[in-house]
Amino acid sequence: MVYFVGAGSGAPDLITVRGERLLKEADVVIYAGSLVNPALLSVCKEETEIYDSAKMTLEEVIDVIKEAEKSGRMTVRLHTGDPSIYGAIREQMDALKACGISWEVCPGVSSMSAAAAALSLEYTLPGVSQTVIVSRIAGRTPVPEKEELAKLAAIGATLVLFLSSGYTKEVREELLKGAYTEETKCALVYKASWPEQKVVRTTLGALPEAAEEAGINKTALIIVGDVLGDDYELSKLYDAHFSTGYRDAKD
Ligand code: SAH
Repeated sequence: MVYFVGAGSGAPDLITVRGERLLKEADVVIYAGSLVNPALLSVCKEETEIYDSAKMTLEEVIDVIKEAEKSGRMTVRLHTGDPSIYGAIREQMDALKACGISWEVCPGVSSMSAAAAALSLEYTLPGVSQTVIVSRIAGRTPVPEKEELAKLAAIGATLVLFLSSGYTKEVREELLKGAYTEETKCALVYKASWPEQKVVRTTLGALPEAAEEAGINKTALIIVGDVLGDDYELSKLYDAHFSTGYRDAKD
């Protein structure tokens, strides 16, 4: 059996209880060494075979899993954050399917959750934005034309950009073509939940300079939108004058 496990955003105690149990039981672990905190591997059995996928191709990863399956050993494929976001898991699952190998996915705490926690931020504030767009600027991996940043920016929703902190000038240029302005609030969170975490609050206009000053150009999220400001409406959910399925409205 193969388990794709979300390692969480970095702090070793941000893996799920299930994920940690699977790591303890694993005979083989293939972890994304570029971003997964190696401290997580300390719970593995002494005899567990450990591979760093940062140095491997897709084919090599699948070969290691196939070998383990042949001898009935359990594999954990450990991905950073939550594996569903820029995790490159689909291609692995399809390759396993082609070999008749079954798998399960165990979710993780994405860096977008850890970054919000670091900022004490709610992405979806009533009266401000009820939509979160998760995207990236085109780098070596292209982005479909219909999803160009300038087009997404037209909506003016809360924006969370992965894999983009090395391109802050381009991000600013693209976003200013949409609903955001130079004054729109913006934050950079570097290595959310790691001891070396850095949080920078700035504006879209000042983003490139703020990133440079803080020395941030990778392993960071860029968050843009008015939810980083101070104006919002109170929720209906806890409004005393509003009845819900659990509580009647008070006069
Ligand atoms: N699946 C991961 C994302 C993998 S893509 C998740 O759910 O978080 C890698 C990108 O994620 C990095 O370039 C960076 O933009 C972001 N990232 C990963 N870990 C991070 C962290 N601890 N803090 C801030 N950004 C992080």
